[in-house]
Amino acid sequence: MFDTHAHLDFDEFDHDRDELFNEMEAKNIRQILLPGVSPDLWGKQLAIAQQYQCYFALGIHPWYLPIDIDAALVQLEQHIITNQTNPLFVAIGECGLDKLRPDFERQQTLFEQQLHLAKKYQLPVILHAVKCHALLIELLTKTALVQGGVIHGFYGSVEVAKQYQKLGFKLGIGGLILNPAAQKLHKVVAELPLELFVVETDSPSMTPINQLEKRNTPLILPLIIEKIAFLREISTVPILEQLNKNALQLFEL
Ligand SMILES: [Zn+2]
Repeated sequence: MFDTHAHLDFDEFDHDRDELFNEMEAKNIRQILLPGVSPDLWGKQLAIAQQYQCYFALGIHPWYLPIDIDAALVQLEQHIITNQTNPLFVAIGECGLDKLRPDFERQQTLFEQQLHLAKKYQLPVILHAVKCHALLIELLTKTALVQGGVIHGFYGSVEVAKQYQKLGFKLGIGGLILNPAAQKLHKVVAELPLELFVVETDSPSMTPINQLEKRNTPLILPLIIEKIAFLREISTVPILEQLNKNALQLFEL
């Protein structure tokens, strides 16, 4: 199993990271992608990626808007160049737009520049998108990325999902699917081609409801896959196989 979005470099995992990776291995969760969020955190993120052999992406998340956007983007490009030959480095992100957070205009400046870097270095993007699908689709159409990317933690209608599909994007399906109230998402996962999806947990965030531990971990991946199988009324075996294929194709592995 491939968790395409897990922040296992975050402090929440400092006290038991070894144990967690052992448990994941026992459950056959062997591929992890650590998305980048801020220049201040890339150092630790890359060290953990190297130590545990996780794939990683480099980017600046809209929740971590830098005071000096231009300087942060220069740093990002330097990191991209330094890591170009690192086989674990696979994408730009996570970056994007969040309507529920402040400074939307500055978010957009930061985001568009990261799209340009993705295009320049021919890398896929990992996108954070909250309440801004129409604008995001407009920007992605304008930029016309070669490698596409993934809308991480996708939540939207079948119509919106189809627009991303047309742009060559994948949709990251996470713990939200385990919520009985997430019917819009259930419909997307039941009706659209399996080629469109990858799975993720966004650990330590997005803990599914009804879970005792507050911290989310990749150990919930089998539950997500079972739920997808249930919604599509087929067994988990072909689901797993296709989802893995999708992730490998997306990140060119
Ligand atoms: Zn994330």
